[in-house]
Amino acid sequence: MEIKKLYKPGKTVFSLEVFPPNKTYPIETVYKAIDELAAFSPAYISVTYGAGGNAADRSTCKIAAYIKEKHGIESMAHLTCINSTKADVDILLDDFKSNGIENILALRGDLKPDVEPKKDFLHASDLTAYIAAKGGFDIAGACYPETHLDAESPEKDIENLKIKVEAGASHLISQLFFDNSFFYDFVKRAKAAGINVPISAGIMPVTNTKQIQRMVTLCGASLPQKFVKIMQKYENNPEALRSAGIAYAADQIVDLISTGVDGIHLYAMNNPTVTGKIYESIKTLL
Ligand code: FAD
Repeated sequence: MEIKKLYKPGKTVFSLEVFPPNKTYPIETVYKAIDELAAFSPAYISVTYGAGGNAADRSTCKIAAYIKEKHGIESMAHLTCINSTKADVDILLDDFKSNGIENILALRGDLKPDVEPKKDFLHASDLTAYIAAKGGFDIAGACYPETHLDAESPEKDIENLKIKVEAGASHLISQLFFDNSFFYDFVKRAKAAGINVPISAGIMPVTNTKQIQRMVTLCGASLPQKFVKIMQKYENNPEALRSAGIAYAADQIVDLISTGVDGIHLYAMNNPTVTGKIYESIKTLL
């Protein structure tokens, strides 16, 4: 099923995101996490893709297929393009198609100073247009409430987002943020620019201090005073920090749903315990 069809006025679509295993543990570990995450009734589960653009890496496809086949839950495969040729992308698209995957999150991927990008796709909009021309997939795109780190300006970032939507992105998923006002302001700016596709809010529960610095460095998310205060108070108490991080994410979600957000995309981090605690506190709102 095309995920765009799940979005309906007045209803919030609840989705989850998982990632493939690294080399130190087997894919079955991820399957086990998915078996538990399935109990939280996600409308769909997305599976991230390594930025390396390695067409031989089939784990995203395998996991996305497992979600559909084992649990009958719609899945979405992420796909990056900056380090891929058209031939690499064709291999992956064929693999997705033959495994019944109908939904793709088309991404550029991060630029790496030591890796020369392949020249077939420069932006996610190029990949979106390429997949749309081939047909057979519903395509989503990423968006950035606090503006993408490489963008010239917030205005230019929105202009570029519009190019991506016009190229065929039928809905958008946002980068994580810890202050909902950035998301509300972004949605207002996107709509004013004529971007009218559904936008899911990406929410990341922060449950340990290591995660915080990584998040800020990687995506530039601002840390509101309220968040910093909680993290500082409990930095030496992992259990309390975890509870506070879960409560903070749940609080963000309650506010977003009450404000009528199109979707909540929870970065589940392959962690059913944390996801379950958040789900328990918001399930009656969905
Ligand atoms: P783009 O949409 O191409 O935007 C990147 C930059 O280029 C922006 O500054 C934009 O303003 C500019 N730009 C865009 N289009 C144009 C244009 N036509 N002309 C000029 N400038 C333009 N990374 C992974 O490696 N694997 C994943 O699985 C993954 N999943 C993600 C899921 C979500 C929900 C999000 C928000 C991000 C994810 N990322 C993932 C990270 C993503 O790859 C990076 O943020 C990357 O730097 C940008 O990707 P993009 O698709 O948003 O790029």
